[in-house]
Amino acid sequence: MGLYAALSLLALIGLLVALNAGQSAAAVAHHTREIHHRLGMIRDELAAGKDPNSVLRGWQQTFQREGQELWLVDQNFESLTISEGELPHEITLQSVIQSAIRSGESMQRIHIHRGDPEVFAFGLDVSADEAHVRVLLALIKPEALQENQKLITSAAMQAAISTWIIGILCVAFVTAGIVEPLRAMSLNLDQAIGKAQREDMLLTIADRHDELGQVATSLYRLEEERENRIEKLEAAERESRSSSALLSAVLDSMIEGVVAIDREQRIVFLNTGARRLLGISSVIGIGHRVYEAVRVPAFLDTVQDAMKSKKMETLEYRKPGEQTHLVLVVIPISTGPHAGAVAVVRDVSEMRRLEAMRRDFVSGVSHELKTPLTVIQACTDTLLGGALSDPTAAERFLKQIEEQSERLLQLILGMLQLARVESGQQVLHIEPVDVVTVADDVLRGFRTVADTKSVQLFLTGTNDMTIIADDQALQTIISNLVDNALKHTKAGGGVTVELIADQFSKAIVVRDTGTGIRQELLGRIFERFYRVDRDRSRDRGGSGLGLAIVKHLCQALGATVSVKSEFGHGSEFRVQFSRT
Ligand code: ADP
Repeated sequence: MGLYAALSLLALIGLLVALNAGQSAAAVAHHTREIHHRLGMIRDELAAGKDPNSVLRGWQQTFQREGQELWLVDQNFESLTISEGELPHEITLQSVIQSAIRSGESMQRIHIHRGDPEVFAFGLDVSADEAHVRVLLALIKPEALQENQKLITSAAMQAAISTWIIGILCVAFVTAGIVEPLRAMSLNLDQAIGKAQREDMLLTIADRHDELGQVATSLYRLEEERENRIEKLEAAERESRSSSALLSAVLDSMIEGVVAIDREQRIVFLNTGARRLLGISSVIGIGHRVYEAVRVPAFLDTVQDAMKSKKMETLEYRKPGEQTHLVLVVIPISTGPHAGAVAVVRDVSEMRRLEAMRRDFVSGVSHELKTPLTVIQACTDTLLGGALSDPTAAERFLKQIEEQSERLLQLILGMLQLARVESGQQVLHIEPVDVVTVADDVLRGFRTVADTKSVQLFLTGTNDMTIIADDQALQTIISNLVDNALKHTKAGGGVTVELIADQFSKAIVVRDTGTGIRQELLGRIFERFYRVDRDRSRDRGGSGLGLAIVKHLCQALGATVSVKSEFGHGSEFRVQFSRT
């Protein structure tokens, strides 16, 4: 509105200026015509022979009323009539008269005195004959011109100002009707008030039966559509966020590592398993190249090959500097917005260890069975070949057959027991067991062997120890450990069974002063058929199952077995019970 007021005011001022200029030109033209006409009439009257004094006097009054002056002068610039005023004898006026005499009439704009306002001077030659030169001189003063002009200008100005004020009022009225609701509308929309309030406000304006009403109706529809769309988008976003969170949670809970990469081999997804298995540090993540995350050439080659050949590629490799065996499967994704590849990594160390154990077990069993069977077969062959007729030889061979059969039986019984314990089929009678009595019984059983080997047996520690366990299982554990200790202790040595009971736990420790075991082998002695010195152990009647049975029985009883040994000085096996 301010702009409209300023512009319209400027236009009005321009109009007034133009009007003023036009007005003054029109006034000059009007007066010029009027003077011409009047001077013509005076000339006619004078020519008709009327008395110049009376003619002039009559006309002078008319002229003076309109601010003009009229003179009748001769060529010497002398007034030929009796006049009230004084004719200024100025050169400027004389030039008007001279010019009129020369050309019959003249009209000039002159300044009578220097510095005076401009005057319009008219000269008309009205000589009766050449001897009596007469010139009518009329002067129009600027006031005469301005008078009329002032009237018109003031009227025009009044009309212009009234128009301007009416215009401003109209604009103010229209503005109040349109701009105010629009302003309220934009203010409310800007302040992001609630949906209901926004809709209420738009509905109020939509009631109007004008363009603003139509705009408000359209805005209301747009608002509704926008709200619906926002709701749908929010719902879709919630759904996608929850499903992507679910997917991430599922992938993170996997023990396998999953790495998704794009065409440029940039990581686009990485689960926790991948970080753990591939040793990817936390500073590496989405957006990094795969070679920045994994620095194993074989791994990177496999990824490259799969992406190039567009076929699944696999690789099994050992993690650098570790015993971990990893299997990598790279599945290329050749099309679509997620083109690239997915690499899945799995730790197969346990599987490989079990495979190796199974292989060792099969070869162990075969070997263990083969040796006594070979001896038995050789003995029977010899007997059948004639040794049977020699009673001494026959008895020796039959004894060997008996020994090997016994060994076979022990081996098979050991394997069966181990299988039962491992598979959980062994029925345990868990009850309070007096460990002192059990240990005492076991040692009594080994007394003869110990005496034969000149090895001393001791039972030390507490003489009152009860644990919740299975009587038979406990006996087997102590028996196997004492048997091993005796086997590996030379004459003069000793085997001690110590029973320890404190407020936290109870333990059975079997200690010997025998050969001891090398540190690097300590981790393997609990494996089935593992023997440090295969041949010597077999000679001592060992099957390689004793410690495996101890380990599994301990597990079944909720106990742990550990070993400490100093090669050449002896070993210590500790069975620790936490369930007391
Ligand atoms: P084995 O029937 O051969 O004794 P075990 O499973 O009982 O089988 O023991 C496995 C291996 O551990 C044995 O072959 C032996 O070399 C070693 N070992 C077990 N106990 C002792 C011990 N007290 N002193 C030295 N070596 C031992």
